[in-house]
Amino acid sequence: MLKAPRGTMDILPKNAARWHFLEDTFKKICYSYGYQEIRTPIIEQTELFQRGVGESTDVIEKEMYSFQDRGGRSISLRPEGTAPVARAYIEHKMYNLPQPVKMYYYGPMFRYDRPQAGRYRQFYQLGVEALGAADPAIDAEVIMLAREFFLEIGLDDLVLQLNSVGCPECRLSYREKLVSFFQQHEQSLCSDCQRRLMQNPLRLLDCKKEKCGFIAQKAPVIKDHLCLSCREHFDSLLHSLDALKVPYELNTQLVRGLDYYTKTAFEFIEGSHKSQNSLGGGGRYDCLVETYGGPATPGIGVALGVERILMALESKNIEEKLPENAGIFVAVAEHSLSNIRWELVYALRRKGFYVDTDFLGHRSLRSQLKTANKKGFPYLIIIGPDEVKRGNITLRNMKSGSQEEVSMEKLSVYLSSLMGERPEEGC
Ligand code: AMP
Repeated sequence: MLKAPRGTMDILPKNAARWHFLEDTFKKICYSYGYQEIRTPIIEQTELFQRGVGESTDVIEKEMYSFQDRGGRSISLRPEGTAPVARAYIEHKMYNLPQPVKMYYYGPMFRYDRPQAGRYRQFYQLGVEALGAADPAIDAEVIMLAREFFLEIGLDDLVLQLNSVGCPECRLSYREKLVSFFQQHEQSLCSDCQRRLMQNPLRLLDCKKEKCGFIAQKAPVIKDHLCLSCREHFDSLLHSLDALKVPYELNTQLVRGLDYYTKTAFEFIEGSHKSQNSLGGGGRYDCLVETYGGPATPGIGVALGVERILMALESKNIEEKLPENAGIFVAVAEHSLSNIRWELVYALRRKGFYVDTDFLGHRSLRSQLKTANKKGFPYLIIIGPDEVKRGNITLRNMKSGSQEEVSMEKLSVYLSSLMGERPEEGC
């Protein structure tokens, strides 16, 4: 039997409303914060991620879905959303627009990772990016936006963890300290960390292997090596969050998995000690646009993992505000009345009602009624020969079981008065 590829899943119609709930809530909040949608391609040139995300990161080393297209170009499925947005910012000269340019995105990302609960090969991210502002106030805004989203959907006990990973300047001296610290423990490090030690020692701080984590706990912390500008930036952010009464924890080990981060790095963590407990994270990337040949442009963003958010909602038994079936099912008492049924179905749909009917051949009225009931329709229209002669139909309220004859002429107006909507008159 053919199955969805390992690490991917179907979003079934019965679950689609949950996804819409998250998407709609996110869009609503982005709108109120002044972020506009950007949609970038799912495929990009492989080089975009190599240069931006960093050659020695897990994402680039082991997790990219890359292939040669028929023209011999190396193409990758996007593993994340920031690099494509930075590319689009340069390509469309958005640096000429009033700054900062505030954008949000939503879509699937791809990483060839070992699948497990909360870790997929295709997963969805909701994210925002603000390019063109260096002020720590925009770091606070991005964090507030994500926090507002979590609160709005009912996740009010996430822990916001914060760190500063400094800038290339302060990282230079910190890097040396880190290398000499880890060199003392080289033999005890995992093979990945041994290999990365010279290439990218910062990565060793968030290695998930227990023995490396244990060693990393004693490593020098970047907080003690920040330059004046990075320290002031971080202090100012903490000050803004304090003023906004946003609780946070400082985590000196938090470096995030992607190389482009500078200064602020943050994550929203589920309190439980599950392994995949980061529901979203982000940070500042002040050198990324320049790396791609654009003008020096600071930036900050956050990406939230939809599957993990849904899992967190489920584990807390939080009922999303799902829309009820607010539709009308049209049943026919006799097959000869079918033409009237189609006319009515399409006319009501044109008025904006949600209308469905039976497609399983000439079934008895009883069977059609059963289907309407199972699908949760609150109203049923029955087209019967006697009523039709009078220009009427029977309208049944499925909850109360009461029914009445209504003229076809006035049906849509009557329905909208019942259902609280007001489509145009005459049906
Ligand atoms: P990142 O792009 O690595 O900063 O991740 C941001 C968020 O995306 C994480 O906090 C997770 O919620 C989610 N995420 C990252 N990788 C995966 C994955 N493989 N499967 C599901 N969610 C993921």
